[in-house]
Order: sequence, then structure tokens, then C-alpha cells
Amino acid sequence: MKMKQKRKNKSIWTLTLGISLVLMAFIACSSDDGDTTETETGGEVSGELHAAFAEFDTNETDIYLEGSNVVIETTGNPNHTTPYWGVGNALYVAPTIATNMTPSLIPGYDGAATLTVSSDPQLASSSTATSLGAIGISVSGAAIFNDQEGNGALDQAVVSLDYSGGHIGPAEYHYHLEPKAWSDDDDKLIGILSDGFFIYGRKCNSTGTYPTDLDASGGHASITQHTDETEYHYHIINEIYSTTGRYIVFVGPYKGTPNAIN
Ligand SMILES: [Zn+2]
Ligand SMILES: [Zn+2]
Repeated sequence: MKMKQKRKNKSIWTLTLGISLVLMAFIACSSDDGDTTETETGGEVSGELHAAFAEFDTNETDIYLEGSNVVIETTGNPNHTTPYWGVGNALYVAPTIATNMTPSLIPGYDGAATLTVSSDPQLASSSTATSLGAIGISVSGAAIFNDQEGNGALDQAVVSLDYSGGHIGPAEYHYHLEPKAWSDDDDKLIGILSDGFFIYGRKCNSTGTYPTDLDASGGHASITQHTDETEYHYHIINEIYSTTGRYIVFVGPYKGTPNAIN
């Protein structure tokens, strides 16, 4: 009696499954016959790298889409001259304003890192403070740091920064100040921060001059040289750092959600 009941249940279940499969097949065929669905349209949009990524040095970085994310792999090395390459290296230049260099050299460090961000980053409901270590990857391949060194202000380390606002110590080569190797009081792309938003030089391409509507993070929404659509991006804030006569790249806080750079 019990066995019979079980068998009966099983055959009902089999019948139900059969009808479901037929229905699913029917629905699948119907949508195939239809026009482009929303999902397909969305896939096309996220299937293209943002034009700004073309500015990144392809010798130092490898940038590609992975689903709805963008993966940025970098050697961590700057593609330009600095005394931190060390005497004898093709990209070595004698220090000019770095009066007290740290003893470390770029060839001695493995600064390779990977950052994965959304291909369509969104502003977060609340801001996030930056922390020590890399907060972004620049178009040169080298890391972007904030205005802190160790757990203190940058003041003591300023004497070790090269002409491009970068140094080593005690991590990979990285910028704290406006990277004059390729951006000096202009609207050039500096790089991408870990929340997926791009950061530009002190001027904005949308007006050709210093933006006047920046938020506390140095960000605003406008067109750029890389998009006709209004989109959020950061700028190097036009505030001289300390007595250096130079400009901090980014202090924060992040307006999006930061991702790990490692
Ligand atoms: Zn530093
Ligand atoms: Zn702008």
C-alpha cells in the first residue's frame, strides 16, 4: 500500500516535470524568436572598455573586461625617468628636488598588483576614508598613494619625493603629489582609483580650466575628453600641499566603494 502510494507520487512528479520542461522549451523558443532583449542590450553596453583605459601604458599594464568588471593588472613600475631607478638604469636621472632620497630602488621591489573594479562604478551611499598603501593605479603603471606616510603626515617624507611627486619607501614606487612626469597643471588623465572612478589633473576638459564645483573629495560630474556623457570623476585638488608648492594627488574620501589593490 505504501509502495503504491510512493509510485503514484513519483509518476505525478514525473508528469509535472515533463510539462515544466515542455513549457520552458516553449518560452525559450519564444524569446529566441523575439527582438533583442534587455539583457542582451545590457551585455553590449558592458562589453566595451571605457575610452580612458587607452591612456594606460600597455607596457606596464594589462587591462581587460571580466563579466561586468574591469581588471587592471600592473607591473607597478613607472614608465618614466626617476632617480629611483638607480644609477646605470636607462630611466635613471639625477635627483633634482629630492634632497634626501630613500635608499630603496625600483628594481629591488616587486610592485606588481591587480585591481578589479566595476565597469560601471556608482557613487556609494556613504564615503570611505583612504588608507595606507595603494589607493589607485596611474596611467604610468605606478601606484597612487594618499597624503600619509607611515601613520603620519607626509611632511617628513617630502624631501624624498622626486620631480614627479613619487618615491619608494617602504613600499613600491608611488606618487603622493601631482605626477609632473606627464601632468603639470593640465587636464591629463592621472589614473583610476580603487573605487573605479578616474582621476584627472588640476584642470577639467569640460571647461578647459580649474573646476569650481568640486566636492570635498575633489570630484564632480561632467563630460571629459574620454566621454560625451556626464560622469563622476576626481581631480587633483588645487590646494598647495604644505610649503612644497606642489599638489597632493588625492586625499579622499572615496565617493564610491573601494576595492583591494594587491
Ligand atoms: Zn610614500
Ligand atoms: Zn572634471
